[in-house]
This record gives sequence, C-alpha cells and structure tokens, in this order.
Amino acid sequence: MLDKVLIANRGEIALRILRACKELGIRTVAVHSKADRELMHVRLADEAVCIGPASSAQSYLNIPALISAAEVTDSSAIHPGYGFLSENADFAEQVERSGFTFIGPRAETIRLMGDKVSAIESMKKAGVPTVPGSDGPLGDDEGEIVATARRIGYPVIIKAAAGGGGRGMRVVHTEAHLLSAVTVTRTEAHSAFGDGTVYMEKFLEKPRHVEVQVLADGQGNAIHLFDRDCSLQRRHQKVLEEAPAPGLDPAARAEVFEACREACITIGYRGAGTFEFLYEDGQFFFIEMNTRVQVEHPVTEMVTGVDIVREQLRIASGLPLSIRQEDVKLAGHAFECRINAEDARTFMPSPGKVTLYHPPGGLGVRMDSHIYTGYTVPPHYDSLIGKLITWGVDRDTALTRMRNALDELLVEGIKTNIDLHKDLVRDGYFQQGGVNIHYLEKKLGL
Ligand code: ADP
Repeated sequence: MLDKVLIANRGEIALRILRACKELGIRTVAVHSKADRELMHVRLADEAVCIGPASSAQSYLNIPALISAAEVTDSSAIHPGYGFLSENADFAEQVERSGFTFIGPRAETIRLMGDKVSAIESMKKAGVPTVPGSDGPLGDDEGEIVATARRIGYPVIIKAAAGGGGRGMRVVHTEAHLLSAVTVTRTEAHSAFGDGTVYMEKFLEKPRHVEVQVLADGQGNAIHLFDRDCSLQRRHQKVLEEAPAPGLDPAARAEVFEACREACITIGYRGAGTFEFLYEDGQFFFIEMNTRVQVEHPVTEMVTGVDIVREQLRIASGLPLSIRQEDVKLAGHAFECRINAEDARTFMPSPGKVTLYHPPGGLGVRMDSHIYTGYTVPPHYDSLIGKLITWGVDRDTALTRMRNALDELLVEGIKTNIDLHKDLVRDGYFQQGGVNIHYLEKKLGL
C-alpha cells in the first residue's frame, strides 16, 4: 500500500481523499494556498505545506510547487482530485518522472481522452456508440464542411476538441450560419484552449445526460459500477445527480455497461473513470470520458457500497481490483445536491464567513463538506461548499430523505442554492424521473 499521499486539491474532495487515506492507514500531506490555511483537511492531515498565494495559477495549478512539496515531505504519490490538474497529462507525466505515483491513468490515456476527437475515435474502435458526426476534426474545405452537416442533418453542434467545462460549443440550426459558426468556434477554442481544432456532431434536442462509472486496475481487470443521471444542469454544469438513471431501456443499458468495460481493457485504462453519454430515444451516444474521480461519485458509492477513492488508492498501490463484476450489486437509489455558495436566483458567487453550519443527519444521509461554523469561503475558487447525498431502498424514499435533509441543513452568513434544491426535489416532472438536459434552464426561465 502507498505510504504517504499528497493531496493536490482543496475543499470537500481533499477531505474525501484524506478520509480514504486514513482508513487505509496511509499518511497524508495537505498542500494549500495562502487563502486556504483554515481548510478542514489541512488541520487533519499529518503534514501541511503552503504552496503559494491565493490565485490557483500560483498554487493548485503550480506544477513545480506541487512536485517540490512532494519532495520535501517524501510523499510516495499524488492524488489530483477533480478539476485543477486532474486531467493534465503533462502533470501526470512530470509526477511520474519525478519518481512519484500519479493516482490516475497513465499520461498517454489522459492525453488520448483529453482530446475529444481522439477520444471519440478510440471509443468507436472499441465498440462504444458515439454521436453521429464528422469523422475526425473539420478541415479547411468549406464545401466539405457543408456536405458533412447535410449528411448529419441539422441542427448540428460545433465543438472544440480541447474543450471542457461546457465551453467551446456552438449549435447551428441552418446552413446559412454554419461556416461563420465554425470560424468563431475555432477562434474561441484557439484562445481558450490553445488549440483551434473543432469537430461536428448531430445536436440532440432532448437528450438526458447519463454516465457510466468504471474502475480498472491496469492489470487487465475492469468493472462498471452502473450509471448516474446528471441531466439537471445549468450552463452545462451539473446541479443535482442520481444513481441509477431512472427508466432506461434495459437492453441498451446492459449493452453500454459491457461496452464501457471492454473499452477500458482495450485502451489499457487504469484507475477510476467515467464514460459520459447523451441518452435519447432508448439509445446511448458517447460524448467524452473523464479520467478522474467525479464530483458526483458518492451516489454510485451509495448504491453499490464500493468506495471509489479507496479503489483508486489500491489501484495506484499496484493492487488488483478488490471486487469482481459479479459481486457488484445495485441496491436502492441515491441523490446528490451540490450545495454552492451562490445566490439561488442570480447564481452570483457569495463568498464570506459562515456564521452557522448545521449539517443534516439520520439513516441514509451523507454530507461531504469541508465547511464549519466560523469558516470563511474564499472568493478565489469554485463555489461548491458541500454535497448532500441521500440513499433509500427506492427512488421515492431517497427523494423524501433529500427533502427532509435539505430542510434540516442550515448554512448562514453566506448565500447558498439550498432553496433552489428544495424547489427541485418537489418538482413534479423531476419526481417522475427522466427529465432532459434542458429541463432545469427552461424551468428557471433561462
Ligand atoms: P464539456 O467537456 O465541456 O463538459 P461535453 O462534450 O461533455 O463538454 O458536453 C457538455 C454538455 O453539452 C453535455 O452534457 C450536453 O448538455 C451538451 N452537449 C454536448 N454535445 C451535445 C450534442 N451532440 N447534442 C446535444 N447536447 C450536447
């Protein structure tokens, strides 16, 4: 087992990783910016190192600072969490070259999946269903671009190969707007991601966002941990997730699970990963793979009993998966509400001092949060302050528990989106299950 892990992240996920390390008897190193001295996991870690000023660029994204922190603390491995450097292939490479274990896939896998064009290409080869689209990146020939769009059929979406975080995408409804949309997306992609490569996909009009969690040990074993539905999104950002995804076609679902598992073996995947799909009219369409632990991983843990971060740590230690596919059983249903420090109506971030924090409790209730009464949410980072997760024997029970838990949850001193969640869990369509990715924005009148 790894001996000492440096946690290259902050907030709730840093605490989540720390907890898993402690359970496995692994010593922990917290790294933090000057603005983050008061973080809960910094207090709880065996060692703490300040790696730079508040700005992420100079701290959590500062590769030399992170590597020196690993060196001075004699750490054996680095866990990147999500966001920040978690999907940066150069970071993974430098970590390994400096003699540390990167807790994640090999750098070349991250690179392959980080470019959406090559990711789609390799998934097609592995037999995973993809969205009808251009075969590879769009070239410069305007006639060819027009022909591709005609073949796919309007509406189409132009996407940046290097895009992420919901940026670098443009929907085109008619031929008249096609070429200008391609040019604008290229220019934007070039300035935002340093890579102007774009490709085209059929724009699906009412899909759901369904994703499949996988674990692979890089030693030829891979399992899937069923699916999650993350269709409630605002500006392509997930707000409320659940597992399993309700009401899917059972045959298509079984097929996609198997395809994901096989793809992991084909590409030599190592670690935890997520295959993201759009699901429409009973069919799955692969859009991208995330090569890291995801924010919403707890809903899967609640319905499978598998500790995903623990498995990541075991895999990075060179151990084979601790569970076989036939031992993974789906039990009950789980929801997760992302609690953000933001105005529930305008969504403007609301950093500041938490004057009172009271988490909910009871059977089937889990609160993953780093905040505490007296903690000050800094203005420099993501506004996620916690995740409220509930489990129940069935969807209704889990949802009832979420309603009650949200009523118990108190966060005072800053604005939060708790009221938005209270509204969502009482929404008639959401209660039925299976709303599409546009539902939340429509409901909000956006
Ligand atoms: P990112 O890496 O920026 O998250 P994704 O490729 O995962 O980009 O897409 C993010 C979101 O954009 C999806 O969850 C979906 O809401 C929307 N989207 C992407 N591709 C399509 C498509 N072909 N049709 C309809 N919506 C899409």
